Amino acid sequence: MRVETFALGPLETNSYLAIEGRNAVAVDAGGDPAPMLRHIAKHGLTLTHVLLTHLHFDHTYGAQALHEATGAPVLAGSGDAYLMDSELGQGGFMGLPRIKPFTYTAIEPGDFEVLGQPCTALFTPGHTAGSLSYYFPQSGVVFAGDVLFFRNIGRTDFPGGSMETLLDSVKTQIFSLPRETVVYSGHGPETSVGEEILHNPYFSDFAR
Ligand SMILES: [Zn+2]
Repeated sequence: MRVETFALGPLETNSYLAIEGRNAVAVDAGGDPAPMLRHIAKHGLTLTHVLLTHLHFDHTYGAQALHEATGAPVLAGSGDAYLMDSELGQGGFMGLPRIKPFTYTAIEPGDFEVLGQPCTALFTPGHTAGSLSYYFPQSGVVFAGDVLFFRNIGRTDFPGGSMETLLDSVKTQIFSLPRETVVYSGHGPETSVGEEILHNPYFSDFAR
């Protein structure tokens, strides 16, 4: 798997293309996805899915535009539906633009297949109530959204957030993955499971 990173939108949200052969999936789309679409066109790729880690506006700005340009279905965790009635789901928060409304297929945590390989939607609530992290065991990659960052964790002060839940999500769902697993986060640089187990200050009590 090849991973291309695009920092898009007002909060420079990491928006990813995971590419295998001629197929690609998008993980989040934090703004106008034109740079993602240019990459898709330039390399003759087919976008098969848009996977959303959670339904905060700064991860979904470009979902509808990606869908309209490619026909790819948009998937998101069923547990985040509550956000779509609020500024955090629709945009408008802090005076930022509203999102273009989109429809998505609500999915449950568990295994499915994309890009010809298995993908596990890990249930990682705490930043939102329904956050999913997308783990590709064959490629050793996890897209963690705003649950885990390089040496940091996501905010837990928004509706549906919980510090205790988030710490538990990371420990049980992310830190149980192989240590060499590359972690692609919603903001900031990539890291790895092993690096965060060793150096993330929020987990200094975690068995190292
Ligand atoms: Zn968020």
